[in-house]
Amino acid sequence: MQGSQTGLIPDAEAGAVLTIDLDAIAANWRTLRERAGTDTAAVVKADAYGTGIEKTVPALLDAGCRVFFVAHLSEAKRVRAVATEATIYVLNGFPHGTGPTYANHDIRPVLGSLEEIEEWAAFCRSQGARLPAAIHVDTGMHRLGLPLVEGLSLSNDARIKDFDLALLMSHLVSAEEPENQINARQIAAFTALRGAMPGIPCSLANSSGTFLKGMQAFELARPGYALYGGNPTPHLSNPMKPVAHLDARVIQLRYALAGETAGYNAAWTAPSRRRLATISVGYADGYPRSAGSTNTNVGDAGIAIVAGRRCPFVGRVSMDLIIIDVTDVPEHEIHRGDIVTLIGTNLTIDEVGRRAGTIGYEILTSLGRRYARHYRGGPR
Ligand SMILES: *Cc1c(COP(=O)(O)O)cnc(C)c1O
Repeated sequence: MQGSQTGLIPDAEAGAVLTIDLDAIAANWRTLRERAGTDTAAVVKADAYGTGIEKTVPALLDAGCRVFFVAHLSEAKRVRAVATEATIYVLNGFPHGTGPTYANHDIRPVLGSLEEIEEWAAFCRSQGARLPAAIHVDTGMHRLGLPLVEGLSLSNDARIKDFDLALLMSHLVSAEEPENQINARQIAAFTALRGAMPGIPCSLANSSGTFLKGMQAFELARPGYALYGGNPTPHLSNPMKPVAHLDARVIQLRYALAGETAGYNAAWTAPSRRRLATISVGYADGYPRSAGSTNTNVGDAGIAIVAGRRCPFVGRVSMDLIIIDVTDVPEHEIHRGDIVTLIGTNLTIDEVGRRAGTIGYEILTSLGRRYARHYRGGPR
């Protein structure tokens, strides 16, 4: 894999090489903005979904993105360090006593309760400044945000005059399921809220929401996953470009005879003489242990692509190692030291997630720190 080397781990000393395509992230942001037809932010929480805030945010800025969402104040400070002019919102709200940190770094809390609104308003009064913040209203998730009834009565609440209410937002529960009735209910609730608070910019759509029929993106779209190559339309082909590529090294090759087993707890038994390759990635690298196989589920478990062929994981995923069945790969096409693909153009994060019994979001955000990491493209 080509690309500029960052971090401290040389390829030859790592078990696997992770390459992040910054140009693909930029292209995905442009695609999403076009699709949304309105201002489009980038959600860069969890270290930009594992891709690295310090590299990904500059690439998004270069593409034209000016608004960023993170989960934590600590993440917001990292974004601020590389994006001095950008607008930055913290989704997880306003922890008690953090007003000065928000103000000093020009970061905006997303207020999710009357208590938080009260504290932000009081903080702004104490500063003599109407500092900007967003308000999150719950339209069905029951996780963060004011209950809808409280949101609808906000316009009569004097406290919202004490600060700059810069954005009104809510979050969709099941936007990746276009047939799910809850989408229409949430859109209707949010539209009612918007009507009760005229003139305030509104934001509802995450990645999948941007592709929902009947969805209006309002003033700001708020995608995360699709920026990083995840499929926002799981029922259709993926309109996004792949971003993460993970290549692991083969460290040993061996045969297992019929009846012999592979890996911890002998979870898999060779049905015939099989050629096995051991690769140097495991659950300590963030590759889920749940992608391992037994003889009954080997077709649905994890796979690696070896010389163009899809080879199944056999037995358990170990802490640092995975065993794959390479019997179908011609003997001369695989050797010690060769590279196999664990995530790539033909093995998407969505498929890797499915094969591990989880979602691509979890695969991305777990990408390990032991990999040699490369970045391709990005601002020049
Ligand atoms: C994570 C998150 C997003 C982005 O969602 P994706 O599905 O990754 O596009 C948007 N809004 C909120 C409130 C979030 O927590």
